[in-house]
Amino acid sequence: MDCEAQNRKKALKKPVFVKYIKMAEYKYDTIIVGGGIAGLTSAAYVSREGQKVLLIEKNKECGGLVNSFIRDGFHFDAGIRALEDAGIIFPMLNDLGIHLEVVKSPVSLGIENEIIHIENLDSLTEYKHLLKKIYPESEAEIDAVIKTIRKIMKHMDVLYGIENPVFKDLKHDKNFIFKKLLPWLPKFLSTVGKINRMNMPVEDYFENIIKNPSLKDIISQHFFKNTPAFFALSYFSLYLDYFYPKGGVGKLSDALKSKVREYGGEIKTETNIIEVIADKCVVIDQENVTYGYDNLIWAADLKTLYRIADTEGLPPKKRMKFGNIKKKMLSNRGGDSVFTLFLEVDEPLESFGKIANGHFFYTPSKRGLGEIHRSELKNLLIHFEKSKKEEILSWLDKFTQLNTYEISIPGLKDPECAPAGKTGLIISLLAEYDLFRKVQEAGWYDEFKMELENHILNVISSSVYPMLKEKIIARFSSTPISIENRIASSEGAITGWSFEKPVPVVNKIQFSGRSVLTPIPSIFQAGQWTYSPAGVPMSILTGRLAADRVLKKRAHKF
Ligand SMILES: Cc1cc2nc3c(=O)[nH]c(=O)nc-3n(C[C@H](O)[C@H](O)[C@H](O)COP(=O)(O)OP(=O)(O)OC[C@H]3O[C@@H](n4cnc5c(N)ncnc54)[C@H](O)[C@@H]3O)c2cc1C
Repeated sequence: MDCEAQNRKKALKKPVFVKYIKMAEYKYDTIIVGGGIAGLTSAAYVSREGQKVLLIEKNKECGGLVNSFIRDGFHFDAGIRALEDAGIIFPMLNDLGIHLEVVKSPVSLGIENEIIHIENLDSLTEYKHLLKKIYPESEAEIDAVIKTIRKIMKHMDVLYGIENPVFKDLKHDKNFIFKKLLPWLPKFLSTVGKINRMNMPVEDYFENIIKNPSLKDIISQHFFKNTPAFFALSYFSLYLDYFYPKGGVGKLSDALKSKVREYGGEIKTETNIIEVIADKCVVIDQENVTYGYDNLIWAADLKTLYRIADTEGLPPKKRMKFGNIKKKMLSNRGGDSVFTLFLEVDEPLESFGKIANGHFFYTPSKRGLGEIHRSELKNLLIHFEKSKKEEILSWLDKFTQLNTYEISIPGLKDPECAPAGKTGLIISLLAEYDLFRKVQEAGWYDEFKMELENHILNVISSSVYPMLKEKIIARFSSTPISIENRIASSEGAITGWSFEKPVPVVNKIQFSGRSVLTPIPSIFQAGQWTYSPAGVPMSILTGRLAADRVLKKRAHKF
Protein backbone atom coordinates (compact mmCIF):
# COMPACT_ATOMS: atom_id res chain seq x y z
CA MET A 1 0.00 0.00 0.00
CA ASP A 2 1.47 3.42 -0.82
CA CYS A 3 1.58 6.44 1.50
CA GLU A 4 -1.50 8.12 0.13
CA ALA A 5 -3.74 5.07 0.58
CA GLN A 6 -2.14 4.38 3.94
CA ASN A 7 -2.77 7.95 5.10
CA ARG A 8 -6.42 7.84 3.99
CA LYS A 9 -6.88 4.59 5.92
CA LYS A 10 -5.19 6.15 8.95
CA ALA A 11 -7.55 9.12 8.81
CA LEU A 12 -10.49 6.74 9.21
CA LYS A 13 -8.89 4.90 12.11
CA LYS A 14 -7.71 6.11 15.49
CA PRO A 15 -4.07 7.28 15.20
CA VAL A 16 -1.63 4.53 16.10
CA PHE A 17 1.44 5.61 18.03
CA VAL A 18 4.64 4.31 16.53
CA LYS A 19 7.27 3.01 18.87
CA TYR A 20 10.15 5.38 18.18
CA ILE A 21 8.91 7.94 15.71
CA LYS A 22 6.78 10.86 16.74
CA MET A 23 3.54 11.11 14.77
CA ALA A 24 4.00 13.61 11.95
CA GLU A 25 3.57 17.06 13.42
CA TYR A 26 2.75 18.46 10.00
CA LYS A 27 1.01 16.69 7.14
CA TYR A 28 1.25 17.53 3.42
CA ASP A 29 0.05 16.02 0.15
CA THR A 30 3.52 16.40 -1.31
CA ILE A 31 6.83 17.23 0.32
CA ILE A 32 9.80 18.23 -1.78
CA VAL A 33 13.24 18.02 -0.23
CA GLY A 34 15.84 20.33 -1.83
CA GLY A 35 15.13 23.88 -2.96
CA GLY A 36 17.51 23.87 -5.92
CA ILE A 37 16.19 24.45 -9.41
CA ALA A 38 14.75 20.92 -9.64
CA GLY A 39 12.92 21.10 -6.31
CA LEU A 40 11.58 24.58 -7.07
CA THR A 41 10.27 23.35 -10.43
CA SER A 42 8.53 20.35 -8.84
CA ALA A 43 7.08 22.55 -6.09
CA ALA A 44 5.70 25.08 -8.59
CA TYR A 45 3.99 22.41 -10.69
CA VAL A 46 2.52 20.41 -7.82
CA SER A 47 1.26 23.46 -5.94
CA ARG A 48 -0.25 24.85 -9.19
CA GLU A 49 -2.68 21.93 -9.06
CA GLY A 50 -3.88 22.90 -5.59
CA GLN A 51 -2.03 20.28 -3.54
CA LYS A 52 -0.86 21.06 -0.05
CA VAL A 53 2.86 21.34 -0.70
CA LEU A 54 5.93 21.85 1.46
CA LEU A 55 9.35 22.55 -0.03
CA ILE A 56 12.16 21.96 2.47
CA GLU A 57 15.59 23.53 1.94
CA LYS A 58 18.60 23.21 4.23
CA ASN A 59 20.04 26.65 3.45
CA LYS A 60 18.70 30.12 4.20
CA GLU A 61 18.35 30.71 0.45
CA CYS A 62 16.81 28.51 -2.22
CA GLY A 63 18.43 27.96 -5.61
CA GLY A 64 21.19 25.47 -4.78
CA LEU A 65 23.67 25.71 -7.66
CA VAL A 66 21.52 28.36 -9.39
CA ASN A 67 22.21 31.12 -6.95
CA SER A 68 23.60 34.68 -6.89
CA PHE A 69 24.75 36.92 -4.07
CA ILE A 70 25.84 40.54 -3.62
CA ARG A 71 29.03 41.56 -1.83
CA ASP A 72 30.24 45.16 -1.54
CA GLY A 73 27.84 46.09 -4.36
CA PHE A 74 29.23 43.42 -6.72
CA HIS A 75 26.81 40.73 -7.96
CA PHE A 76 28.33 37.27 -8.13
CA ASP A 77 26.94 33.92 -9.24
CA ALA A 78 27.77 31.17 -6.78
CA GLY A 79 26.97 28.25 -9.10
CA ILE A 80 26.28 28.17 -12.82
CA ARG A 81 27.48 31.36 -14.58
CA ALA A 82 24.82 31.63 -17.34
CA LEU A 83 21.91 29.46 -18.44
CA GLU A 84 21.17 27.41 -21.55
CA ASP A 85 17.57 27.26 -22.68
CA ALA A 86 17.88 23.79 -24.30
CA GLY A 87 14.22 24.02 -25.32
CA ILE A 88 13.33 23.70 -21.65
CA ILE A 89 13.82 26.87 -19.59
CA PHE A 90 11.80 29.33 -21.69
CA PRO A 91 8.93 26.87 -22.28
CA MET A 92 8.82 26.25 -18.52
CA LEU A 93 8.77 29.99 -17.80
CA ASN A 94 6.00 30.53 -20.37
CA ASP A 95 3.99 27.65 -19.01
CA LEU A 96 4.18 29.04 -15.47
CA GLY A 97 3.51 32.60 -16.60
CA ILE A 98 6.88 33.84 -15.32
CA HIS A 99 8.40 36.91 -16.91
CA LEU A 100 12.15 36.97 -16.46
CA GLU A 101 14.21 39.80 -17.88
CA VAL A 102 17.14 38.24 -19.69
CA VAL A 103 20.03 39.24 -21.92
CA LYS A 104 22.18 37.12 -24.24
CA SER A 105 25.37 35.87 -22.65
CA PRO A 106 27.87 35.71 -25.51
CA VAL A 107 30.88 33.44 -25.10
CA SER A 108 34.51 34.05 -26.05
CA LEU A 109 37.15 31.35 -26.44
CA GLY A 110 40.83 32.08 -26.05
CA ILE A 111 44.15 30.27 -26.21
CA GLU A 112 47.28 32.25 -25.35
CA ASN A 113 46.94 35.55 -27.29
CA GLU A 114 44.28 34.37 -29.71
CA ILE A 115 40.68 35.13 -28.74
CA ILE A 116 37.48 34.68 -30.74
CA HIS A 117 33.93 35.68 -29.96
CA ILE A 118 31.20 33.15 -30.64
CA GLU A 119 28.38 34.98 -32.38
CA ASN A 120 26.71 32.53 -34.73
CA LEU A 121 27.21 29.25 -36.58
CA ASP A 122 29.99 30.81 -38.67
CA SER A 123 32.03 31.24 -35.52
CA LEU A 124 32.90 27.56 -35.84
CA THR A 125 34.97 28.47 -38.88
CA GLU A 126 36.75 31.12 -36.82
CA TYR A 127 37.41 28.48 -34.16
CA LYS A 128 38.91 26.25 -36.85
CA HIS A 129 41.21 29.08 -37.99
CA LEU A 130 42.23 29.79 -34.40
CA LEU A 131 43.17 26.14 -33.84
CA LYS A 132 45.05 25.97 -37.12
CA LYS A 133 47.01 29.12 -36.27
CA ILE A 134 48.06 27.61 -32.98
CA TYR A 135 48.64 24.05 -34.20
CA PRO A 136 49.64 24.48 -37.89
CA GLU A 137 51.07 20.94 -37.86
CA SER A 138 47.61 19.43 -37.19
CA GLU A 139 45.45 20.86 -39.98
CA ALA A 140 43.86 17.57 -41.03
CA GLU A 141 43.04 16.61 -37.45
CA ILE A 142 41.45 20.01 -36.84
CA ASP A 143 39.32 19.59 -39.98
CA ALA A 144 38.14 16.22 -38.67
CA VAL A 145 37.20 17.65 -35.26
CA ILE A 146 35.34 20.58 -36.78
CA LYS A 147 33.46 18.19 -39.06
CA THR A 148 32.33 16.20 -36.00
CA ILE A 149 31.30 19.33 -34.11
CA ARG A 150 29.27 20.47 -37.14
CA LYS A 151 27.53 17.09 -37.27
CA ILE A 152 26.73 17.31 -33.57
CA MET A 153 25.42 20.85 -33.97
CA LYS A 154 22.95 19.48 -36.51
CA HIS A 155 21.84 16.83 -33.98
CA MET A 156 21.46 19.54 -31.35
CA ASP A 157 19.31 21.58 -33.73
CA VAL A 158 16.98 18.58 -33.88
CA LEU A 159 17.14 17.76 -30.18
CA TYR A 160 16.34 21.28 -29.04
CA GLY A 161 14.53 22.16 -32.27
CA ILE A 162 11.14 22.54 -30.62
CA GLU A 163 9.98 23.54 -27.18
CA ASN A 164 10.14 20.47 -24.96
CA PRO A 165 6.67 18.85 -25.20
CA VAL A 166 6.71 18.18 -21.44
CA PHE A 167 6.06 21.90 -20.94
CA LYS A 168 3.30 22.19 -23.55
CA ASP A 169 -0.41 21.72 -23.06
CA LEU A 170 -0.75 18.72 -25.33
CA LYS A 171 -4.49 18.35 -24.68
CA HIS A 172 -5.32 21.76 -26.09
CA ASP A 173 -2.43 23.04 -28.18
CA LYS A 174 -3.32 21.26 -31.46
CA ASN A 175 -1.22 23.72 -33.41
CA PHE A 176 1.90 22.60 -31.53
CA ILE A 177 1.02 18.91 -31.94
CA PHE A 178 0.35 18.94 -35.67
CA LYS A 179 2.70 21.68 -36.85
CA LYS A 180 5.68 21.02 -34.59
CA LEU A 181 5.61 17.83 -32.51
CA LEU A 182 4.53 15.28 -35.12
CA PRO A 183 6.89 16.48 -37.89
CA TRP A 184 9.72 16.59 -35.32
CA LEU A 185 9.26 13.11 -33.79
CA PRO A 186 10.79 10.97 -36.59
CA LYS A 187 13.81 13.31 -36.79
CA PHE A 188 14.15 13.12 -33.01
CA LEU A 189 14.06 9.31 -32.97
CA SER A 190 16.72 8.98 -35.63
CA THR A 191 18.88 11.58 -33.85
CA VAL A 192 18.59 9.75 -30.52
CA GLY A 193 20.12 6.66 -32.15
CA LYS A 194 23.04 8.70 -33.48
CA ILE A 195 23.59 10.36 -30.12
CA ASN A 196 23.60 7.05 -28.27
CA ARG A 197 26.31 5.80 -30.59
CA MET A 198 28.52 8.69 -29.41
CA ASN A 199 28.24 7.86 -25.74
CA MET A 200 31.90 6.84 -25.33
CA PRO A 201 34.22 9.10 -23.29
CA VAL A 202 35.33 12.12 -25.29
CA GLU A 203 38.98 11.18 -24.63
CA ASP A 204 38.47 7.78 -26.34
CA TYR A 205 36.58 9.36 -29.19
CA PHE A 206 39.46 11.74 -29.85
CA GLU A 207 41.97 8.90 -29.66
CA ASN A 208 40.94 7.93 -33.21
CA ILE A 209 40.91 11.35 -34.79
CA ILE A 210 43.57 13.43 -33.01
CA LYS A 211 47.18 12.42 -32.56
CA ASN A 212 48.49 15.76 -31.31
CA PRO A 213 48.15 15.47 -27.51
CA SER A 214 48.13 19.24 -26.92
CA LEU A 215 45.33 19.77 -29.41
CA LYS A 216 43.37 16.95 -27.81
CA ASP A 217 43.78 18.58 -24.40
CA ILE A 218 42.91 22.07 -25.53
CA ILE A 219 39.60 20.91 -26.94
CA SER A 220 38.63 18.60 -24.10
CA GLN A 221 40.40 19.49 -20.84
CA HIS A 222 37.62 21.71 -19.51
CA PHE A 223 35.12 18.86 -19.72
CA PHE A 224 34.61 16.50 -16.82
CA LYS A 225 36.72 13.35 -17.00
CA ASN A 226 35.19 10.78 -19.39
CA THR A 227 32.33 13.07 -20.45
CA PRO A 228 30.29 11.30 -23.17
CA ALA A 229 31.61 12.53 -26.53
CA PHE A 230 28.25 13.75 -27.71
CA PHE A 231 27.64 15.82 -24.59
CA ALA A 232 31.13 17.34 -24.63
CA LEU A 233 31.15 18.24 -28.30
CA SER A 234 27.64 19.66 -28.17
CA TYR A 235 29.03 22.57 -26.20
CA PHE A 236 29.70 24.62 -29.27
CA SER A 237 25.93 24.70 -29.86
CA LEU A 238 25.32 25.46 -26.21
CA TYR A 239 27.67 28.47 -26.35
CA LEU A 240 25.14 30.08 -28.71
CA ASP A 241 22.29 29.25 -26.36
CA TYR A 242 23.57 30.93 -23.17
CA PHE A 243 21.48 33.72 -21.64
CA TYR A 244 21.71 35.66 -18.41
CA PRO A 245 18.86 36.84 -16.20
CA LYS A 246 19.30 40.53 -15.36
CA GLY A 247 20.58 40.75 -11.80
CA GLY A 248 22.19 37.27 -11.86
CA VAL A 249 21.28 33.64 -12.54
CA GLY A 250 19.74 33.44 -9.07
CA LYS A 251 16.82 35.51 -10.43
CA LEU A 252 15.56 32.31 -12.06
CA SER A 253 15.38 30.60 -8.66
CA ASP A 254 13.82 33.70 -7.09
CA ALA A 255 11.12 33.77 -9.78
CA LEU A 256 10.26 30.10 -9.23
CA LYS A 257 10.21 30.58 -5.47
CA SER A 258 7.70 33.42 -5.81
CA LYS A 259 5.61 31.23 -8.10
CA VAL A 260 5.52 28.41 -5.54
CA ARG A 261 4.28 30.88 -2.91
CA GLU A 262 1.77 32.43 -5.33
CA TYR A 263 0.29 28.95 -5.88
CA GLY A 264 -0.01 28.47 -2.13
CA GLY A 265 3.04 26.20 -1.67
CA GLU A 266 4.91 26.51 1.61
CA ILE A 267 8.70 26.88 1.71
CA LYS A 268 10.66 26.06 4.82
CA THR A 269 14.33 27.05 4.73
CA GLU A 270 17.20 26.32 7.14
CA THR A 271 15.71 22.86 7.56
CA ASN A 272 17.89 19.85 6.93
CA ILE A 273 16.21 16.49 6.41
CA ILE A 274 18.20 13.84 8.22
CA GLU A 275 15.89 10.83 8.00
CA VAL A 276 13.17 9.43 5.75
CA ILE A 277 10.98 6.71 7.26
CA ALA A 278 9.65 5.10 4.12
CA ASP A 279 6.82 2.96 5.52
CA LYS A 280 5.53 5.72 7.81
CA CYS A 281 5.76 8.33 5.03
CA VAL A 282 7.53 10.89 7.16
CA VAL A 283 10.71 12.92 6.91
CA ILE A 284 12.53 14.17 9.99
CA ASP A 285 14.63 17.33 10.26
CA GLN A 286 17.65 18.28 12.37
CA GLU A 287 15.39 19.46 15.21
CA ASN A 288 13.62 16.09 15.18
CA VAL A 289 10.45 17.66 13.72
CA THR A 290 8.49 15.14 11.63
CA TYR A 291 6.58 15.97 8.46
CA GLY A 292 4.13 13.50 6.92
CA TYR A 293 3.53 13.17 3.19
CA ASP A 294 1.47 11.25 0.67
CA ASN A 295 4.22 11.70 -1.88
CA LEU A 296 7.81 12.76 -1.46
CA ILE A 297 9.98 14.26 -4.22
CA TRP A 298 13.65 14.03 -3.29
CA ALA A 299 15.40 16.83 -5.23
CA ALA A 300 18.73 16.76 -3.40
CA ASP A 301 21.82 14.54 -3.36
CA LEU A 302 20.72 10.96 -4.08
CA LYS A 303 23.45 9.24 -2.07
CA THR A 304 22.01 11.11 0.93
CA LEU A 305 18.50 9.81 0.25
CA TYR A 306 19.69 6.20 0.00
CA ARG A 307 21.89 6.62 3.08
CA ILE A 308 19.22 8.14 5.35
CA ALA A 309 16.13 6.24 4.19
CA ASP A 310 14.86 3.76 6.76
CA THR A 311 13.16 1.00 4.79
CA GLU A 312 12.78 -1.50 7.66
CA GLY A 313 8.97 -1.45 7.62
CA LEU A 314 8.67 -1.96 3.84
CA PRO A 315 7.68 -5.31 2.27
CA PRO A 316 10.83 -7.48 1.78
CA LYS A 317 10.76 -7.26 -2.03
CA LYS A 318 10.76 -3.48 -2.04
CA ARG A 319 13.37 -3.37 0.69
CA MET A 320 15.63 -5.63 -1.30
CA LYS A 321 15.19 -3.62 -4.49
CA PHE A 322 15.93 -0.41 -2.59
CA GLY A 323 18.96 -2.07 -0.97
CA ASN A 324 20.37 -3.13 -4.33
CA ILE A 325 20.09 0.37 -5.78
CA LYS A 326 21.53 1.79 -2.57
CA LYS A 327 24.63 -0.38 -2.99
CA LYS A 328 25.11 0.91 -6.54
CA MET A 329 24.53 4.53 -5.54
CA LEU A 330 26.86 4.48 -2.56
CA SER A 331 29.68 2.85 -4.51
CA ASN A 332 29.55 5.63 -7.12
CA ARG A 333 30.96 9.13 -6.83
CA GLY A 334 29.95 12.62 -7.73
CA GLY A 335 31.66 14.08 -10.81
CA ASP A 336 34.31 16.79 -10.94
CA SER A 337 33.95 19.86 -8.81
CA VAL A 338 35.28 23.41 -9.18
CA PHE A 339 37.55 25.88 -7.44
CA THR A 340 36.31 29.44 -7.86
CA LEU A 341 38.08 32.72 -7.24
CA PHE A 342 35.82 35.77 -6.81
CA LEU A 343 37.46 39.15 -7.40
CA GLU A 344 36.33 42.73 -6.75
CA VAL A 345 38.46 44.90 -9.03
CA ASP A 346 38.97 48.65 -9.21
CA GLU A 347 39.02 48.78 -13.00
CA PRO A 348 36.08 49.65 -15.29
CA LEU A 349 34.13 47.00 -17.16
CA GLU A 350 35.24 48.49 -20.48
CA SER A 351 38.86 47.43 -19.92
CA PHE A 352 37.75 43.79 -19.66
CA GLY A 353 35.07 44.12 -22.36
CA LYS A 354 37.75 45.12 -24.91
CA ILE A 355 39.41 41.74 -24.41
CA ALA A 356 36.60 39.20 -24.20
CA ASN A 357 32.89 38.72 -23.56
CA GLY A 358 31.47 38.27 -20.06
CA HIS A 359 31.58 34.48 -20.41
CA PHE A 360 35.02 33.38 -21.43
CA PHE A 361 36.81 30.03 -21.67
CA TYR A 362 40.49 30.83 -21.58
CA THR A 363 43.58 28.61 -21.77
CA PRO A 364 46.82 30.54 -21.11
CA SER A 365 49.07 27.90 -22.65
CA LYS A 366 48.68 25.82 -25.81
CA ARG A 367 50.60 22.93 -24.23
CA GLY A 368 47.61 21.34 -22.51
CA LEU A 369 47.40 19.55 -19.17
CA GLY A 370 48.54 16.14 -20.43
CA GLU A 371 48.59 13.76 -17.47
CA ILE A 372 48.81 16.50 -14.81
CA HIS A 373 45.12 16.25 -13.83
CA ARG A 374 44.98 12.50 -14.43
CA SER A 375 47.75 10.02 -13.58
CA GLU A 376 49.99 12.66 -11.96
CA LEU A 377 47.16 13.77 -9.70
CA LYS A 378 46.20 10.17 -8.97
CA ASN A 379 49.78 9.40 -7.90
CA LEU A 380 49.91 12.53 -5.82
CA LEU A 381 46.76 11.45 -4.00
CA ILE A 382 47.97 7.88 -3.47
CA HIS A 383 51.26 9.07 -1.99
CA PHE A 384 49.84 12.20 -0.41
CA GLU A 385 50.85 11.38 3.16
CA LYS A 386 54.47 10.88 2.10
CA SER A 387 54.62 13.89 -0.23
CA LYS A 388 56.27 17.14 0.77
CA LYS A 389 54.27 20.36 0.66
CA GLU A 390 56.71 21.68 -1.98
CA GLU A 391 55.94 18.74 -4.27
CA ILE A 392 52.22 19.45 -4.03
CA LEU A 393 52.74 23.13 -4.68
CA SER A 394 54.96 22.40 -7.64
CA TRP A 395 52.18 20.19 -9.08
CA LEU A 396 49.77 23.08 -8.40
CA ASP A 397 52.03 25.40 -10.36
CA LYS A 398 51.81 23.27 -13.52
CA PHE A 399 48.10 22.61 -12.95
CA THR A 400 47.24 26.31 -12.86
CA GLN A 401 49.55 27.32 -15.72
CA LEU A 402 48.28 24.77 -18.21
CA ASN A 403 44.60 24.60 -17.28
CA THR A 404 41.51 26.07 -18.93
CA TYR A 405 39.58 28.72 -16.98
CA GLU A 406 35.93 29.64 -17.10
CA ILE A 407 35.85 33.39 -16.49
CA SER A 408 32.57 35.15 -15.90
CA ILE A 409 32.10 38.90 -15.58
CA PRO A 410 28.48 39.52 -14.57
CA GLY A 411 28.82 43.28 -15.23
CA LEU A 412 29.62 42.67 -18.91
CA LYS A 413 26.28 40.86 -19.22
CA ASP A 414 24.32 43.29 -17.07
CA PRO A 415 26.16 46.53 -16.14
CA GLU A 416 23.98 46.88 -13.02
CA CYS A 417 25.85 43.91 -11.58
CA ALA A 418 28.94 45.99 -10.72
CA PRO A 419 29.45 49.32 -8.93
CA ALA A 420 30.29 52.21 -11.32
CA GLY A 421 33.85 52.06 -12.60
CA LYS A 422 34.51 48.63 -11.06
CA THR A 423 34.39 45.01 -12.18
CA GLY A 424 33.57 41.73 -10.46
CA LEU A 425 35.20 38.57 -11.86
CA ILE A 426 34.44 34.91 -11.23
CA ILE A 427 37.36 32.71 -12.30
CA SER A 428 37.09 28.94 -11.98
CA LEU A 429 38.72 25.69 -12.95
CA LEU A 430 37.72 22.06 -12.52
CA ALA A 431 39.10 20.71 -9.26
CA GLU A 432 39.40 17.32 -7.56
CA TYR A 433 37.50 16.97 -4.29
CA ASP A 434 39.91 14.37 -2.84
CA LEU A 435 42.85 16.73 -3.09
CA PHE A 436 41.12 19.38 -0.98
CA ARG A 437 39.94 16.75 1.48
CA LYS A 438 43.48 15.41 1.93
CA VAL A 439 44.93 18.87 2.31
CA GLN A 440 42.27 19.63 4.90
CA GLU A 441 43.08 16.44 6.81
CA ALA A 442 46.74 17.39 6.69
CA GLY A 443 45.83 20.72 8.35
CA TRP A 444 46.78 23.25 5.66
CA TYR A 445 43.48 23.81 3.83
CA ASP A 446 43.44 27.62 4.28
CA GLU A 447 47.06 27.90 3.19
CA PHE A 448 46.38 25.72 0.13
CA LYS A 449 43.35 27.82 -0.76
CA MET A 450 45.43 30.99 -0.55
CA GLU A 451 48.19 29.38 -2.67
CA LEU A 452 45.67 28.41 -5.30
CA GLU A 453 44.20 31.93 -5.33
CA ASN A 454 47.72 33.38 -5.75
CA HIS A 455 48.61 30.94 -8.51
CA ILE A 456 45.45 31.73 -10.47
CA LEU A 457 45.98 35.47 -10.05
CA ASN A 458 49.54 35.20 -11.29
CA VAL A 459 48.55 33.15 -14.33
CA ILE A 460 45.60 35.34 -15.34
CA SER A 461 47.30 38.68 -14.73
CA SER A 462 50.44 37.66 -16.56
CA SER A 463 48.41 36.56 -19.57
CA VAL A 464 44.97 37.78 -20.56
CA TYR A 465 44.14 40.51 -18.00
CA PRO A 466 47.47 42.27 -17.20
CA MET A 467 45.64 45.15 -15.47
CA LEU A 468 44.21 42.80 -12.87
CA LYS A 469 46.82 42.25 -10.20
CA GLU A 470 47.37 45.77 -8.93
CA LYS A 471 43.68 46.65 -8.89
CA ILE A 472 42.17 44.04 -6.62
CA ILE A 473 39.97 45.47 -3.87
CA ALA A 474 38.94 42.16 -2.34
CA ARG A 475 39.09 38.46 -3.14
CA PHE A 476 37.65 35.24 -1.77
CA SER A 477 37.23 31.70 -3.03
CA SER A 478 35.16 28.55 -2.86
CA THR A 479 36.43 24.96 -3.06
CA PRO A 480 34.83 21.56 -3.70
CA ILE A 481 34.52 21.31 0.08
CA SER A 482 32.64 24.62 0.28
CA ILE A 483 30.21 23.23 -2.32
CA GLU A 484 29.80 19.99 -0.39
CA ASN A 485 29.10 21.94 2.80
CA ARG A 486 26.68 24.40 1.24
CA ILE A 487 24.70 22.15 -1.09
CA ALA A 488 25.34 18.75 0.55
CA SER A 489 26.44 17.50 -2.85
CA SER A 490 28.52 14.30 -2.70
CA GLU A 491 32.19 15.01 -3.40
CA GLY A 492 31.25 18.64 -4.12
CA ALA A 493 29.92 17.54 -7.52
CA ILE A 494 28.36 20.26 -9.66
CA THR A 495 26.45 18.20 -12.21
CA GLY A 496 25.72 14.89 -10.49
CA TRP A 497 27.47 11.56 -11.13
CA SER A 498 31.05 11.03 -12.24
CA PHE A 499 31.42 9.58 -15.74
CA GLU A 500 34.39 7.46 -14.66
CA LYS A 501 32.15 4.51 -13.70
CA PRO A 502 28.83 3.43 -15.22
CA VAL A 503 26.28 5.84 -13.76
CA PRO A 504 23.65 4.32 -11.43
CA VAL A 505 20.74 6.21 -13.03
CA VAL A 506 18.99 6.50 -16.40
CA ASN A 507 21.30 7.90 -19.09
CA LYS A 508 19.33 7.53 -22.31
CA ILE A 509 17.10 10.40 -23.34
CA GLN A 510 14.30 8.13 -24.57
CA PHE A 511 13.97 6.70 -21.04
CA SER A 512 14.15 10.03 -19.21
CA GLY A 513 10.51 9.65 -18.11
CA ARG A 514 11.53 6.72 -15.88
CA SER A 515 14.46 8.52 -14.30
CA VAL A 516 12.27 10.02 -11.56
CA LEU A 517 11.04 6.67 -10.20
CA THR A 518 12.46 4.96 -7.10
CA PRO A 519 11.60 1.45 -5.84
CA ILE A 520 9.23 3.09 -3.34
CA PRO A 521 5.97 4.18 -5.02
CA SER A 522 5.49 7.25 -2.81
CA ILE A 523 9.06 8.53 -3.28
CA PHE A 524 10.19 10.19 -6.51
CA GLN A 525 13.55 11.72 -7.37
CA ALA A 526 14.45 14.83 -9.35
CA GLY A 527 17.49 16.90 -10.21
CA GLN A 528 21.07 16.48 -11.28
CA TRP A 529 21.54 13.04 -9.66
CA THR A 530 18.48 11.57 -11.35
CA TYR A 531 19.57 11.50 -14.98
CA SER A 532 23.04 11.62 -16.51
CA PRO A 533 24.47 13.75 -18.07
CA ALA A 534 22.76 16.57 -16.20
CA GLY A 535 22.79 20.32 -15.76
CA VAL A 536 20.17 22.99 -15.22
CA PRO A 537 17.84 22.06 -18.12
CA MET A 538 17.81 18.38 -17.12
CA SER A 539 17.25 19.29 -13.47
CA ILE A 540 14.23 21.36 -14.49
CA LEU A 541 12.95 18.62 -16.78
CA THR A 542 13.19 15.93 -14.08
CA GLY A 543 11.60 18.35 -11.60
CA ARG A 544 8.64 18.63 -13.93
CA LEU A 545 8.54 14.87 -14.68
CA ALA A 546 8.50 14.04 -10.96
CA ALA A 547 5.68 16.53 -10.38
CA ASP A 548 3.72 14.96 -13.25
CA ARG A 549 4.12 11.49 -11.73
CA VAL A 550 2.76 12.74 -8.40
CA LEU A 551 -0.16 14.50 -10.08
CA LYS A 552 -1.01 11.51 -12.29
CA LYS A 553 -1.02 9.23 -9.27
CA ARG A 554 -3.52 11.51 -7.55
CA ALA A 555 -5.71 11.76 -10.63
CA HIS A 556 -5.95 7.94 -10.76
CA LYS A 557 -6.93 7.75 -7.10
CA PHE A 558 -9.98 10.01 -7.34
C1 LIG B 1 30.43 26.55 -11.56
C2 LIG B 1 29.28 25.79 -12.12
C3 LIG B 1 29.07 25.81 -13.49
C4 LIG B 1 27.99 25.10 -14.02
N1 LIG B 1 27.80 25.18 -15.37
C5 LIG B 1 26.72 24.58 -15.90
C6 LIG B 1 26.43 24.74 -17.30
O1 LIG B 1 27.14 25.43 -18.04
N2 LIG B 1 25.33 24.13 -17.78
C7 LIG B 1 24.48 23.39 -16.98
O2 LIG B 1 23.46 22.91 -17.46
N3 LIG B 1 24.76 23.21 -15.68
C8 LIG B 1 25.84 23.78 -15.11
N4 LIG B 1 26.09 23.64 -13.78
C9 LIG B 1 25.30 22.66 -13.01
C10 LIG B 1 23.95 23.12 -12.55
O3 LIG B 1 24.04 24.36 -11.89
C11 LIG B 1 23.38 22.05 -11.60
O4 LIG B 1 23.45 20.79 -12.23
C12 LIG B 1 21.92 22.30 -11.24
O5 LIG B 1 21.74 23.62 -10.78
C13 LIG B 1 21.48 21.28 -10.18
O6 LIG B 1 20.20 21.59 -9.69
P1 LIG B 1 19.47 20.64 -8.64
O7 LIG B 1 18.25 21.33 -8.21
O8 LIG B 1 19.37 19.28 -9.20
O9 LIG B 1 20.50 20.48 -7.42
P2 LIG B 1 21.12 21.52 -6.40
O10 LIG B 1 21.33 22.83 -7.01
O11 LIG B 1 22.30 20.82 -5.79
O12 LIG B 1 20.00 21.68 -5.28
C14 LIG B 1 19.80 20.78 -4.25
C15 LIG B 1 19.28 21.56 -3.05
O13 LIG B 1 18.97 20.64 -2.01
C16 LIG B 1 19.39 21.18 -0.77
N5 LIG B 1 19.59 20.03 0.13
C17 LIG B 1 20.54 19.08 0.04
N6 LIG B 1 20.37 18.15 1.01
C18 LIG B 1 19.29 18.53 1.71
C19 LIG B 1 18.63 17.98 2.84
N7 LIG B 1 19.04 16.85 3.41
N8 LIG B 1 17.55 18.63 3.34
C20 LIG B 1 17.11 19.80 2.77
N9 LIG B 1 17.71 20.35 1.69
C21 LIG B 1 18.77 19.73 1.16
C22 LIG B 1 20.66 21.92 -1.12
O14 LIG B 1 20.99 22.89 -0.16
C23 LIG B 1 20.31 22.51 -2.48
O15 LIG B 1 19.73 23.80 -2.35
C24 LIG B 1 27.14 24.35 -13.19
C25 LIG B 1 27.34 24.34 -11.82
C26 LIG B 1 28.40 25.07 -11.27
C27 LIG B 1 28.58 25.08 -9.79
